[in-house]
Amino acid sequence: MNNIDISQIATLPTKYGTFKIQAFKEIEKEHLAVFTDDLKQIDAPIVRVHSECLTGDALGSIKCDCGEQLHAALELIANEGGMLIYHRQEGRNIGLLNKVNAYALQDKGFDTVEANHQLGFKADERTYEVVEFILKYFGIDKLKLLTNNPRKIESLGNIEIVERLPIKIESNPHNEGYLKVKKDQMGHLL
Ligand SMILES: [Zn+2]
Repeated sequence: MNNIDISQIATLPTKYGTFKIQAFKEIEKEHLAVFTDDLKQIDAPIVRVHSECLTGDALGSIKCDCGEQLHAALELIANEGGMLIYHRQEGRNIGLLNKVNAYALQDKGFDTVEANHQLGFKADERTYEVVEFILKYFGIDKLKLLTNNPRKIESLGNIEIVERLPIKIESNPHNEGYLKVKKDQMGHLL
């Protein structure tokens, strides 16, 4: 990929442990690699590719499981070593405004996939080129992928995935329907 600006590496202490962070800027989007100091010494590090979800990650929304997945992943990676790529493709890459419109449709009874279709999008519009760029930049050619989403496994075609580690999140009355659609229609392994 061309035209990627890469920041310096900085230290980020968190409630889970201290990470290093480095930002990767595409023309419109800025992504973040959050990693532990021992990353280079791990043969096949644990990697989580977390798609931005402002409502779940920052506002504590329980309409989805993103926030819980993010924090479970940071905690695991802080303890075991590895990297979280904060992939800024909000709302499965339809953007925040469209996501809010999709939520409004969901308020009327459409499920998460139907709502995207109503707005003229696929159920999932994400792409993973920048993720492969970041992994290559760090020299990571094999990893343990922390995901429930088989599409993410396929999307990293040039990277050897030695193991898939699941993230188990408890459902709640607000996200039960959402999790069921993810499992039944989008092939998530929950
Ligand atoms: Zn979410």
